[in-house]
Amino acid sequence: MEDVQDKRYDRIISSFEKIYKRDGRWTEENSLDLIHEAYMGNYCLTVKDSNKQVILGMDPTDIKKRDHLKSMFTHDSGVYSTKSFEIKVDSKVVGFIDIGQYSSTLLYQEDVAFKGSINKSIMASATITLVIIIILSLYFSKQFSIPIKEIANLSVSLTKGNFNVKYNTKSNIKELENLRNSINILAEKLKHQDLLRTRLVTDISHELRTPLNVFQHNLEAMLDGVIPVTTESLNDLTEEVIRFGLLIDNLNGLRQFESESSKINYEKILLDRLLTDVCKDFYIVAEQKNIKIQYYFNSNENYAIKGDKDKIKQVFINLLSNALKFNRENGTIRIQLYSNKQGIFVIIQDNGIGINENDLPFIFEHLYRGDKSRAQTEGSGIGLTVVKDILQLHNADIDVESKEGIGTTFKVMFNKTV
Ligand code: ADP
Repeated sequence: MEDVQDKRYDRIISSFEKIYKRDGRWTEENSLDLIHEAYMGNYCLTVKDSNKQVILGMDPTDIKKRDHLKSMFTHDSGVYSTKSFEIKVDSKVVGFIDIGQYSSTLLYQEDVAFKGSINKSIMASATITLVIIIILSLYFSKQFSIPIKEIANLSVSLTKGNFNVKYNTKSNIKELENLRNSINILAEKLKHQDLLRTRLVTDISHELRTPLNVFQHNLEAMLDGVIPVTTESLNDLTEEVIRFGLLIDNLNGLRQFESESSKINYEKILLDRLLTDVCKDFYIVAEQKNIKIQYYFNSNENYAIKGDKDKIKQVFINLLSNALKFNRENGTIRIQLYSNKQGIFVIIQDNGIGINENDLPFIFEHLYRGDKSRAQTEGSGIGLTVVKDILQLHNADIDVESKEGIGTTFKVMFNKTV
């Protein structure tokens, strides 16, 4: 629009120069054509001679009365401004021309239309942008607000002590997905802790009650004179007290394990070497009991896993000590290490007393001891619980197969580390 205006200024100036060249002076008549054109083009002309005396001037209010501009002046007529130009003929200033116009008017009707359409486009694009922004913000705020709301509900449930809750809806936002996983793990851990607490209390009270009852009955029988107070009967009672003390020691061990179980120092473990070391520790005890330990693995195979070396060692120590403890004279313990596509497997097989099928489902539980092993003072019923917990921390699994009188086989399964 500025270009158009500049061209118009040039054209007006050159027209006045031509008029002066033709007539050699300024008169009202010789400029009339251009004045008329100015009126039609909505601008004002004032012609002055070289002494700046006005020859002919237009009244700016005249152009306001033009039909197509009336609507534009209803609110604001804009600022009226003029520009002065020199008229030169043969490099001599022969007069001046002032061109004036209202800022809100555009010199041609096409310009008015152009401005109008520009304004419409701006309004339309602003409206469309606003609608798009509203839709997008609604969509994104929902993406955030729904999972956050669910997580908030879940944490309220957790604070109320309802740990059986899980948040399953996956989110595309990584941070929210992490939050979802953490809160699920938190719920799971709280549930586990709660279960552990209640189970521990029941187990402990049960385990403490049994020797206490025996103790109480025997004492009462002695007081009533049913059992004679002999060194032998007192010895029996002392044994019960010792067993009672051992049980309390074992509970202490369990508490210690629980508090340390979450600390894992991950490192590369070569299972073949670790098992060789564990076997070495047991050879002497096994020999004393006349039990053979056979260990099979392929020395060319890679048996590397990632985990806590001490804890994994504890797993095999517990399994092997059970295999020894519940074995017979001249028994055999067979340890097999192998790997395939599914993972790395350790099989510990003994031909000892075996486990009663009624006991089998509970052997991994806290303080659970098979009927037969209860007769012995040795053992706490926490060995396999520790095994199971450690393996769970390592995403590993354990299976057991046993037949009473024939033997027991434990199978430990690890994921392969690439
Ligand atoms: P414990 O200290 O009594 O050995 P564990 O948790 O290690 O506790 O084992 C739990 C029970 O599982 C044992 O009391 C025993 O009855 C049974 N058990 C575990 N391993 C064997 C095995 N190799 N042979 C027979 N019974 C077993």
